Amino acid sequence: MIVYKHNDFLLKDNGLNHPERKERIKSILDSINQIKDFKINFKDAPLANIEIISLVHPKNYIERIFSNIPKTGLVGVEKEPYADTMLCPNSKKAILRSCGAGIAAVDDLMRENERVFCAIRPPGHHAETIKAMGFCFINNIAVAARYLQNKYKVNKVAIIDFDVHHGNGTQEIFYNDESVAYASSHEYPLFPGTGSNDETGVGNIFNAPLKTGMRGKEFLKIFDQKILRSIDRFKPEVILISAGFDAHVRDPLANINLESEDFYVITKQIVDLGKIHCKGRVISFLEGGYDLQALSESIKHHLLALKN
Ligand SMILES: [Zn+2]
Repeated sequence: MIVYKHNDFLLKDNGLNHPERKERIKSILDSINQIKDFKINFKDAPLANIEIISLVHPKNYIERIFSNIPKTGLVGVEKEPYADTMLCPNSKKAILRSCGAGIAAVDDLMRENERVFCAIRPPGHHAETIKAMGFCFINNIAVAARYLQNKYKVNKVAIIDFDVHHGNGTQEIFYNDESVAYASSHEYPLFPGTGSNDETGVGNIFNAPLKTGMRGKEFLKIFDQKILRSIDRFKPEVILISAGFDAHVRDPLANINLESEDFYVITKQIVDLGKIHCKGRVISFLEGGYDLQALSESIKHHLLALKN
């Protein structure tokens, strides 16, 4: 098991009282450091190569983001009412390493066949081809999927997203591409507003909108019926996970009531699917999750299941 991390992720500042804060990563890494049952190989996330990012985002979009980075203070990249996707002076390296972790993880997975967790921020699943939003600038998991196809000639990649928010960016990027399946469970309606049952792409998009207040048992049933079965039929060659832990009962940004242990079950089912179809090839990317205790507990369950 490999975990990508980097101190630059602690330098990305979103301002006071912003939920997407450096303490999230600290909490996760403190928790991972307590794991004694199996060996974790920590690696520093490298900077992503712009050519590889441009498999998803045009270069002029990437340049525009970086040209907006302020010398001091913060700059928002969105308009109201969601003016909370911020650039700070230290953003560039964090954004590039967040994406670079996924690229390096693909190399590890394909060369060493070792599963990987990327403890990264900023997250990525809300970033569309030419639009930064929802704390995201570059769609880290989408770049990794394209890199798998481009460098390793993988034909079919599945992305499973259990973050409580719909990954509108990932869906938009692959909406007309039958070589990538995107399956998402998310509270609905909730930010960003997409993710209804009607959004099906070219038969490659599988949305499981969840009612506010849902508990673990019902969640797991729907997750099995709508997410796992769809990906089972798709028969992926690699599975990538958008791992957000904001469907946890303690999370302040949403109202789905999973317990920490539920993330073990969810992850184990994904890994089992990976073992059936693709030699257990699974990479997990941190997306959301805003309660520090929930993150600290859930990550242990997630990694234990990812390891097995
Ligand atoms: Zn989220």
